[in-house]
Amino acid sequence: MATNLPMCVVDYMDTTKSVEEQEIADAIRAVRKRLGNRVLILGHHYQRDGIVEHADYVGDSFMLSRKAADSDATVIVFCGVHFMAESADILTREDQAVLMPTLRAGCSMADMATLAEVERDWPTMLAEGGWKDPATRTDPGAPAEEGAAYLVPVTYMNSSAALKDFVGRHGGVVCTSSNAKGVLEWAFERAGLNGAVLFFPDQHLGRNTGLKLGLEEAVMPVWTPDEGANSSMDEARIVLWHGYCSVHERFTVPQIDAFRERYPTGVVVVHPECPRATVEAADDDGSTEHIKRFIEAQPAGSAIAVGTEINMVARMAKEHPDKHIECLDAEVCPCSTMYMIHPAFLLDVLERLEAGEMPNQVAVPADVQQGALVALERMLSITA
Ligand code: SF4
Repeated sequence: MATNLPMCVVDYMDTTKSVEEQEIADAIRAVRKRLGNRVLILGHHYQRDGIVEHADYVGDSFMLSRKAADSDATVIVFCGVHFMAESADILTREDQAVLMPTLRAGCSMADMATLAEVERDWPTMLAEGGWKDPATRTDPGAPAEEGAAYLVPVTYMNSSAALKDFVGRHGGVVCTSSNAKGVLEWAFERAGLNGAVLFFPDQHLGRNTGLKLGLEEAVMPVWTPDEGANSSMDEARIVLWHGYCSVHERFTVPQIDAFRERYPTGVVVVHPECPRATVEAADDDGSTEHIKRFIEAQPAGSAIAVGTEINMVARMAKEHPDKHIECLDAEVCPCSTMYMIHPAFLLDVLERLEAGEMPNQVAVPADVQQGALVALERMLSITA
């Protein structure tokens, strides 16, 4: 059975199921049918095929949360990682419960920015940059007064609810990989001409977006807890928290060069969580939804190298047999935490739900929801 193999030797193009896998899939379908419309199953693009085949919707984390909120289902089973289920819980109604197949599926990038670290370092950052806390303003979400200099926190969707709450309480906003540019522009207007943005947890998305806005890397110091900034905060416009995605950091320029050597007319698309040099060497970059559209837009016969999670790349390759689609890193492993969502866990949750239990519920405390919702709603008002 594929799940018993070391992750990196799983054949992602193999669609055959073992007897055990088929039994689990059949059992999921049967219990799902008995549960009816009160259950909605959501699957992130990075989930394995054995999960995606049962999902009512497949998409990125924000799109899935919106689908959950728009649905009449009272139970949402979120097949993704923990911060995604938290966001779904915040955006859904009180009568909707969000469950995960396993609560162990976290996100190593989200874990790189803890509330304790951010709260501890926040006053030091303000002092070093000479900025004010937007929380001191009567209306923290309003554009900055002339001459004022604030530090406006912006957090990527890939962060804990506790951090989103911090951001909301300090006049900041959430962003996704598709709207980061517009959100940063909004934040700069609130920071003022001499103010700055604190971007976390992913330094690469922050830097790549800052570069697209015309900023020099020199005005984007990286902040590491216990170490501080790696360069002067005096001229800083974006303070980048030190986090990164261990999956997307693996995509490199030599991989792009090697692909172009094999396919001189081939094209390369990567996720903006990749390092700057990789993004600059690629033909295009964008969110998972953007990557999907990019691949769909290429003519038959194209060769495409993709720098994102292998489950999504392999699925796109199966869906477009008229194109050659490969993962930029031949050795790449899947996201280890996304991979924790095994069909057996999905079956277990559905069966326990049928038995009257509410297993693995993700319930964000009301006081945390408050600030997080403010930060999410600010994002919606920018991108609506
Ligand atoms: S791919 Fe990266 S950012 Fe996405 S869940 Fe996995 S570790 Fe987190």
